[in-house]
Amino acid sequence: RPLLIGMTGGIGAGKTTVCRIFEAFNIPVYYADDQARWLVDHDVILKADITRLLGAEAYDARGRYNRSWVAAQVFSQVDLLRQLNALIHPRVYADTQRWVSEHLDKPYVIKEAALLRAAGEDGNSLDKLIVVQSPLDLRIRRIHQRDPHRSEEEIKNIISRQISDEERIQMADYVIYNNETQLLIPQVVQLHERFCNRVL
Ligand code: ATP
Repeated sequence: RPLLIGMTGGIGAGKTTVCRIFEAFNIPVYYADDQARWLVDHDVILKADITRLLGAEAYDARGRYNRSWVAAQVFSQVDLLRQLNALIHPRVYADTQRWVSEHLDKPYVIKEAALLRAAGEDGNSLDKLIVVQSPLDLRIRRIHQRDPHRSEEEIKNIISRQISDEERIQMADYVIYNNETQLLIPQVVQLHERFCNRVL
């Protein structure tokens, strides 16, 4: 089977940008956060489990996930959020395995998410973990450019709730530096060749 490489990094670090480069090299990317949202909206088993945990209001009359209502419920209830995640994560794991099995011809595939554990930790199936690292001021500037409605305050708030850069680097097997001096493509090429040749 192909190697499963994790790709993570803080908000605005450039995960998606780096993944697009890998995709240009014909490497499939599983965008786990988007896929988790899709599963919450469509996976029949997961919808039933979430309704059982949070109540019928979790979905509207047309069966659409009531994301803002759920966010408000779990906002101050850490344990409820933990239980919700405990329902969602196994479905995402299973869905990732299904997805990997569709790409058996590839040397490796990538799973991208804002939060991933170190490779091999907690029974996750990642073979290696890449962390995209970018200086804080640059991240804030880029996010602000991309989402002008978000204030610097709000962005800093999100960053303060995510794990720190130091913690992320600790977990990393490889770091891609996305700053204004280092070029992205050569860093991607180097990792691509390693993974293709299984020189880990
Ligand atoms: P999020 O956590 O919000 O999903 P992300 O880590 O996926 O963010 P990107 O969406 O890749 O980050 O990058 C954030 C913004 O910065 C995007 O608008 C992207 O186009 C821009 N950006 C990222 N890296 C670079 C770069 N090296 N050069 C120019 N623009 C960049």
